Amino acid sequence: MRLLLVEDDDHVAAALSAILARHGFRVTHARNGEEALQALLPADAPPFGVVLLDLGLPDQDGYEVCGKIRKRTSTPVIMVTARSDVRSRIHGLNLGADDYVVKPYDTGELLARIHAVARRTGAPDEAAPGPNGGGGPAVVRLGPVAVELSTRRVSVDGVDVPLTRKEFDLLALLAQRPGVVFRREQIISEVWRTSWEGTGRTLEVHVASLRSKLRMPALIETVRGVGYRLVPPPAA
Ligand code: CA
Repeated sequence: MRLLLVEDDDHVAAALSAILARHGFRVTHARNGEEALQALLPADAPPFGVVLLDLGLPDQDGYEVCGKIRKRTSTPVIMVTARSDVRSRIHGLNLGADDYVVKPYDTGELLARIHAVARRTGAPDEAAPGPNGGGGPAVVRLGPVAVELSTRRVSVDGVDVPLTRKEFDLLALLAQRPGVVFRREQIISEVWRTSWEGTGRTLEVHVASLRSKLRMPALIETVRGVGYRLVPPPAA
């Protein structure tokens, strides 16, 4: 997904761009409101999936920039600001912002919010296709296991297997790309909406529970020191 980062602080922008790039975003950096509006103009480039808009800009008020962006494009806008009071949030949302993140933020939360906004607005989110995003199939079949993304039902050999919300989210995430290794931080950020390290044990517990409930211990493989991947069973 293309992402427009509007941020006048070069240090913040460089650090954030690196994180975003690692998560598959193609980042364009604008240092002020004018650059941001210019970047949104060209019609020949693929459209931006989301705009991350810092409100404290040198040339124009960030709220004003948001209003102008809204007038010329439907690209979702996430406002990033140190102003945390309710009136500022409401003002931002009234101007057409899709979400509002207060500095200092947790990068895991920021990434989760970007993905959530992209899913809601139907922006192409190839960095992490959501259950109903990315044009993926509604049902993922893995040998005897069927994962119905829209109804959140999972069955093995046609028999429903009740999963908790997080167990389903975890399975659905891995099932989006069978064979691909998902890093622990990535899973924690996507499923638990946090980058909190303490969630590590929770992840292990959920993987163990999925292996046991689906009665397929080999379905989710531990990639030591990295994370997990889903290994599709051989076709019967
Ligand atoms: Ca700023």
